[in-house]
Amino acid sequence: MTDPRNIVILTGAGISAESGIATFRGPGGLWEGHRVEDVCTPQALRADPDLVHRFYDLRRAALTRVEPNAAHHALVRLDRDWAGDLLLVTQNVDDLHDRAGSRRLLHMHGELKSRLCAACGDRAPHDGDLPPGSACPACHAPALRPDIVFFGEMPYAMERIEDAILSCDLFVSIGTSGAVYPAAGFVELARHAGAATLELNLERSAGSARFDDSRLGAAGTLVPAWVDAVLTGAA
Ligand code: NAD
Repeated sequence: MTDPRNIVILTGAGISAESGIATFRGPGGLWEGHRVEDVCTPQALRADPDLVHRFYDLRRAALTRVEPNAAHHALVRLDRDWAGDLLLVTQNVDDLHDRAGSRRLLHMHGELKSRLCAACGDRAPHDGDLPPGSACPACHAPALRPDIVFFGEMPYAMERIEDAILSCDLFVSIGTSGAVYPAAGFVELARHAGAATLELNLERSAGSARFDDSRLGAAGTLVPAWVDAVLTGAA
């Protein structure tokens, strides 16, 4: 493709794998040893708040032991040097894009380093453990929960993301299995809008056939090479 001006990038757990964060569907389809429905649904939060809060406390604590990798850093270079529009949409709840320095960034599935009040909707940065029943500083209800978008809940900033996709020239998906909707449907929206579509993933994904170009390999190698090509006009 020639001179893409507006770029939307979608990242998933695969971009953080080389930093040492487990992807969603590891061996046996478990996430860090848990069934997804036990830690990632509103029903689970109601049924066993201790388990769900503890799960995210551990994931939050684990962030102190990992660092952004070459793929996160390459996307920061693109963010800094790309004169056209750019939006990095991540499904990841880790903070590696943030810590690397990406600025044009949206966390569509929430963030480990954030808390949400189930009563008033207030969201605020949070570090350390978050025991169930913690009081919200805004409304005082004992209703703070991890700011994670569970299955069945509406992801953040969907309107802004869809607008960006509808006006992009290039849509790039990195390290995502293409199994979790609505993110898995973004490539169709981009195609509908006439954008070129590129997938960078370790293996063929559920959505590979929907991309114009699908490159297989580790994000830490593929992403820096792709960013170099875009910034030098060779993509
Ligand atoms: P997923 O685990 O379903 O898929 C990850 C994809 O990344 C797979 O297709 C895999 O082949 C690929 N992959 C693995 N290692 C890679 C590498 N080194 N380079 C490139 N690709 C690699 O993850 P998903 O599609 O993001 O969906 C799962 C959901 O789980 C997301 O909504 C996310 O919120 C959540 N999640 C987040 C994190 C995180 O924040 N790091 C971790 C696990 C799960």
